[in-house]
Amino acid sequence: MQRETELKKISEIEIQWDLIVIGGGATGLGIAMDSVTRGYKTLLLEQSDFAKGTSSRSTKLVHGGVRYLAQGDVKLVREASIERGLLCRNAPHLVKNQTFIIPIFSYWDMLKYTSGLKLYDWISGKLTLGNSIFISRKPPLDDLPGLNTDGLLGGVLYHDGQFDDSRLAINLVQSIIEHGGCAINYMKVTGLLKNHSQKLEAVIAEDIEKGGKYQLKAHAVINATGVFVDDILSMDKPGSPKTICVSQGVHLVLDKKFYPSSHALMIPETSDGRVLFAVPWHDKVVLGTTDTPVNEASLEPQALEKEIRFILETAAKYLALRPERKDVLSVFAGLRPLAAPKQGEQKTKEISRSHKILVSPSNLFTILGGKWTTYRKMGEDMVNFIEHHLNWSHKKPGTALMQIHGYAKDMNWNDPLYFYGSDARFIKERINGTANQWISESLKIHAMQVEWAVENEMARTVEDVLSRRTRALLLDAGESVRICREVAGIMAKALHKDHVWIDREVASYTELARQYILTTN
Ligand SMILES: Cc1cc2nc3c(=O)[nH]c(=O)nc-3n(C[C@H](O)[C@H](O)[C@H](O)COP(=O)(O)OP(=O)(O)OC[C@H]3O[C@@H](n4cnc5c(N)ncnc54)[C@H](O)[C@@H]3O)c2cc1C
Repeated sequence: MQRETELKKISEIEIQWDLIVIGGGATGLGIAMDSVTRGYKTLLLEQSDFAKGTSSRSTKLVHGGVRYLAQGDVKLVREASIERGLLCRNAPHLVKNQTFIIPIFSYWDMLKYTSGLKLYDWISGKLTLGNSIFISRKPPLDDLPGLNTDGLLGGVLYHDGQFDDSRLAINLVQSIIEHGGCAINYMKVTGLLKNHSQKLEAVIAEDIEKGGKYQLKAHAVINATGVFVDDILSMDKPGSPKTICVSQGVHLVLDKKFYPSSHALMIPETSDGRVLFAVPWHDKVVLGTTDTPVNEASLEPQALEKEIRFILETAAKYLALRPERKDVLSVFAGLRPLAAPKQGEQKTKEISRSHKILVSPSNLFTILGGKWTTYRKMGEDMVNFIEHHLNWSHKKPGTALMQIHGYAKDMNWNDPLYFYGSDARFIKERINGTANQWISESLKIHAMQVEWAVENEMARTVEDVLSRRTRALLLDAGESVRICREVAGIMAKALHKDHVWIDREVASYTELARQYILTTN
């Protein structure tokens, strides 16, 4: 997975792609993955780094969606539960079977959640991850550590999946390339070209890293740009109506001492009628999320003060040890690309998370909404739709049973390098061949991981390494700033860059990381 090799593929003159996918988040990767497994000549273009947008900022759940069941969206829960089961099989090195606890404070809630979660178990059928049960508060209380026990009757325990979102994205890019596709980061689509019948025939793409423009021909162009879909639609037809609304979700990351349980916590009804999770992740705890409508789409959305306060106040009601601002190791925000509301849907939390496919008169295929969990099905649906719309003969999709790059079974989740799956042994070989070079002991980041990210995972900037190849920025933003110069130095060697590059990278990373660190005054 090297950018230079991918650039050569698009430099061939007169190459005609079957599909060009714009956007390298979960949705675009799912489409490109499906397309290559059917044997289509596939190119994916990402304007920034893979998963730079929403797809590295999720709650890290591969889930059917207990909340959607409460909203009566059984179809979505069924679809997501099947996909959850498939993803556990496709990428067992990244998706854990995670137990969740819903704390119970009344007999009515005990009845409601015990029966509701039995239905949740039943909906996933053969792909269930385990049965839900009620755990009484006494004895043994050891099953519910970290919870505020005032008035607590017990908890309902159920199963869902938990994963690492940007690591899955990188493994998908590797799989797409291994199946004969092409995927390039820092390549922005800036224009669409039409033939004399006003049908799309090519895209113009700009190399953000090196400069230069490419004109790339395709039989089908897919707009999978998340919260930016309307920009591409306007490129196709200026003045196109808005198709999505954007809703922001914020997460706070804390030390594990604030919630030392191996079970994730699910608070089913916060004061704003949403759910809040506390999820163990890489030896820390992720708390979130919120659902705040915002007007602007951005690659670096900012957490609002009221969202931070809301998460801390809600967590304080349920956790024995109350977190404060000073305890937050990182704060990150992501934007949901929700299909614009139907009549009667007043609030963003009420808009269905199902995906929707649109096609314009010029044959620009656009996909809206969806979830990380259903990325595979979204890809399959889109390619089926294109085949049907363009009268192509149907080719069988091949993603349901595939092994995603890094596939490994019987994982030791306590291994700090577990998320590399089958690649971990190559990194360990490099580590064993060097003197101790842990760049960060607390985050368990080694110099060899940085080298690996540049050589095998198309990392181009310090941010790529610290935010999406490792998760340092999200796990402990302050610590990530401390190590960023060392990371830049290792990258500079591998990328043949000079000290000017190092200084520029350090300055821009430090500036970025500031947004992930909470001030305490
Ligand atoms: C707070 C939050 C929590 C969530 N939690 C979960 C969860 O726990 N589980 C779950 O299943 N789902 C979750 N989701 C939903 C899931 O994360 C999203 O549905 C998914 O990541 C969206 O992926 P995407 O590819 O559509 O968008 P993105 O990830 O934003 O990708 C779109 C990409 O298009 C690129 N792009 C834009 N314009 C151009 C251009 N002109 N040229 C080239 N590239 C371009 C962007 O740079 C971006 O990388 C969550 C969402 C949010 C916001």
